[in-house]
Amino acid sequence: MYDVKSMKAEEFIDDQEILDTLEYAEKNKNNRELIGQILDKAAPKKTGRVVECAGLSHREASVLLACEDPEVIEKIYALARQIKEAFYGDRIVMFAPLYLSNYCVNQCVYCPYHLKNKEIPRKKLTQEEIRQEVIALQDMGHKRLAIESGEDPVNNPIEYILECINTIYSIKHKNGAIRRVNVNIAATTVENYKKLHDAGIGTYILFQETYHKESYEKLHPAGPKHNYAYHTEAMDRAMEGGIDDVGLGVLFGLDKYKYEFAGILMHAEHLEAVHGVGPHTISVPRVKKASDIDPNVFDNSIDDDTFAKIIACIRIAVPYTGMIISTRENETCREKVMGLGISQISGGSRTSVGGYAGYTPEERPHDTEQFDVSDQRSLDEVVKWLMDMGYIPSFCTACYREGRTGDRFMALCKVGQIQNCCHPNALMTLQEYLTDYASPETRAVGEALIAREIQNVPDLKRRQRAIEYLDEIKNGGKRDFRF
Ligand code: SAM
Repeated sequence: MYDVKSMKAEEFIDDQEILDTLEYAEKNKNNRELIGQILDKAAPKKTGRVVECAGLSHREASVLLACEDPEVIEKIYALARQIKEAFYGDRIVMFAPLYLSNYCVNQCVYCPYHLKNKEIPRKKLTQEEIRQEVIALQDMGHKRLAIESGEDPVNNPIEYILECINTIYSIKHKNGAIRRVNVNIAATTVENYKKLHDAGIGTYILFQETYHKESYEKLHPAGPKHNYAYHTEAMDRAMEGGIDDVGLGVLFGLDKYKYEFAGILMHAEHLEAVHGVGPHTISVPRVKKASDIDPNVFDNSIDDDTFAKIIACIRIAVPYTGMIISTRENETCREKVMGLGISQISGGSRTSVGGYAGYTPEERPHDTEQFDVSDQRSLDEVVKWLMDMGYIPSFCTACYREGRTGDRFMALCKVGQIQNCCHPNALMTLQEYLTDYASPETRAVGEALIAREIQNVPDLKRRQRAIEYLDEIKNGGKRDFRF
């Protein structure tokens, strides 16, 4: 029986509820009156300077996703753009993955790190190697990392992960610093989540891969990840352990996208109902080619148009949840979906263990790679590309460091302070990037952008202070200003 507040995976992700939702969506996909009401409900409402959005239930959002009428799809895209503009503006937060270890005891059939893959060399970074990787990432200009690791209690125990986090935060090379470490490791215990929380992590990210239990069990035939309930209930344990920024995701291509879409929204509703806080982010990876993995064996792959529609519908359904797209996607696809609701992207990524230090921007090691990287541009190229399209690349980590975690981003939106807070923070961290790491061409484009955009900070005192901070950064003085 479906129960949003149940702590049992099979009840808050109830299969029958998803099937009923899909049937309801199919039946109503041409119901213009209902669709009009759903779009109206989700539209931003403005009171004074404050903009609020109601979001949608998984049923309502599934109706939008089922629509095939091009006119309605255009309306969905327009609304997604409007919501993105209201809360995220043109800011796009930058991050990079850091692969710690590809030792893994699981047998995920889509992942090259699976236990039985004998083609891939196994590697685990030492603390000295992590130092080198982090210096290389700092020298590119990164401030925010997502650490990634296979699951292996002997080779990658929690103590190893904690030691790595400590090392990463401790490295201060030139003006560099990693200010937020997000963590993507296998489902674990409340006790271990407490340890991760105490180590000062940003978001705990765990992709569900698929919400369809039967497929899940087939796709994870052995190893600890085989346990659907333990995996699906991980975010509840993470929140119990004190982590209030959690990141959901499904790996599109494994099962039917409409099922996954309803499932991920039900998961978000569950977290909100039980913990009072929805997911901090949702990621939308698609299966890619990798060592011993042929993506064509998964017959649920989705085309770019469907992918864009999913992103737009997520944006509308959970307006306060950040959305992440990685370098699994190429430049053209990233450009297409950016305006529809993406708030974070990776840049200059390497998905191999030890892929950053000792390589030029053109070189990339493939031997331990987790998947083929489609967008192979350097961070500098990605930053300039974003600015050329009118976006503001942001290296901001202020919210979490100011204690604005959980639903406090929503609170910031609701008091209308985004333009006085996120906007100058984005510009100040972009200025750090331009001064310390950018090519002369990127710097010139960026400084013109900052000069224009700083005028859009509404509060005069705040704007004046931000201008002073920007000057200090440019003149080589202090770093890490934030509101
Ligand atoms: N071991 C952890 C776990 O099981 O959740 C960390 C995950 S792994 C390093 C990060 C994510 O990469 C996985 O959750 C999966 O969704 C994704 N992934 C695995 N194989 C992939 C492939 N062939 N193409 C694209 N993404 C893949």
